[in-house]
This record gives sequence, structure tokens and C-alpha cells, in this order.
Amino acid sequence: MMRTRGFDVSSARMGILVSVAALLAACAYGVDPDRSGLEPGAGGASSSVGPGGPGGGGPGGAGGASSSSSSSASSSSASSSSSSSASSSSSSSSSSSSVSSSGAGGPPPTGVYVRYKASDTNATNNEIKPHFNIVNGGDTAVPLAELTIRYYYTLEPNGSQTEVFHCDYAFVGCGKVSGAFLTTSGANADHYLEVTFTGADMLGPGEQSGEIQARYNKMDYATYDETNDYSFDPTKTTFTEWDRVTLYHNGALVWGVEP
Ligand code: CA
Repeated sequence: MMRTRGFDVSSARMGILVSVAALLAACAYGVDPDRSGLEPGAGGASSSVGPGGPGGGGPGGAGGASSSSSSSASSSSASSSSSSSASSSSSSSSSSSSVSSSGAGGPPPTGVYVRYKASDTNATNNEIKPHFNIVNGGDTAVPLAELTIRYYYTLEPNGSQTEVFHCDYAFVGCGKVSGAFLTTSGANADHYLEVTFTGADMLGPGEQSGEIQARYNKMDYATYDETNDYSFDPTKTTFTEWDRVTLYHNGALVWGVEP
């Protein structure tokens, strides 16, 4: 954007070129929200995890995945202040087009939250495939390793009660993604998949984790019934804010509603 503006200045005598440059600038602005997701225009986000769009992280930003996390102590103390400021709400409104294109109405949430996508919409087969993308809508960087996702469901008594987690793809690298199965109680939930992270990745303001493609099955591939699963929503086939997938920062609920 800055370079385009530079063309305007240098081409004083070439009116046609100026208008072409202006047209290009307009195009660049039009494309920008789709490509950069929630990345704010402020430029304050030094990319570590990267601004992968709703469709998930391309390979371009992979090199940035290992940035230093020496500031984890300070950022964790600041994380409680993830409520919106004037600047973050203005950047939120500028990115509302990308959010509405992902299927959710209204402005994006402030603070850190998670988007969900049902990668497998078949409710009665032997695998469950929730995909996630964590978004930092706040104004404070958060270490990815301090965040935890929960996906709630009921475990049918048929077949094996031992489940196996797979990470099919993660923008940050599947080696940093783990899944565990824990029990709970609540409406349409007696278990949840807990996704945790390791590594030094920082999720800066406006940045996203990129896609995290989780999958799990019973040891013997017995069938699930997902129609009674709290977090399952087969209508969400693109990444969408979904408050039945919850997110925790250092163990404290920061997004969603538990069953
Ligand atoms: Ca179930």
C-alpha cells in the first residue's frame, strides 16, 4: 500500500499512470481483507504465527513459526486485559468483511477466540474431524502454548472406549499439537477433546494460529453418533465463531460456553 502511494507522487506528468496506480490501489484494498483475515492495518503485529486467512495458513509464513517467547511472562500477565480498546475495536470493524465472508454475522469478538469448522459433516461414522483456528482479536500477544481448546461430545458405549487423536495438519506444525480425551458432565457432553500446544509461537494482536486439523476415532473404529454432541455443528463448513467450542488461557475460560 505504501509503495502504491509512492507511484502517485513520482508520476507528476503522467496522468494516466496515476489513475492506473489509483486503480491498482483500489484493487489492493479490495483484495486485502480476504487475504489477510483479521490482520490489522496498524502493522503492530510482528508475525510469528502468521495471518493465515480463514482458509488456513499457506506455506508462506511457515518460517515465522518459531519466534522467541522470552516475553511469555509479561504477556501472560497482560492477557487479562484482553478486553477491547479503542484501537482494537477500530481494527476489528475494518476486518468485518472477512468475518462475514466466513459465515458469522456482526463484528468479530474481542480477545482471543477460536473458530470452528466441521470437516466431516457425517454425524454417524467412525471419525470426528473438528478443525480449529485460534484468532487473537485483542491487543496483547499471547503465547500459543498457554491456550487450550475443548471440543465436547458424548462417547457412545459401543466398541472401544479408547480413542486416538490425530493432527492431520497444523499451520504451526503438528509436532506442537497434542490431543487428550477427558471426561466431563453436561448436556450432550460426557467427554471432551482437549487440544494443547507446545513451542514458542506467539499469537500477536490480529494474528491467527492458522488451521489446526484435528481428527479422532475409537481404537476399533466403532461408530460415533455426533447428533448428540455438544460441539458438533455440521452446518459450519467454513471457519466460524462457535461458542460451543471453548478456549482457555492458562486454564481460564476466555471464549465460548461450557455445556
Ligand atoms: Ca455422541
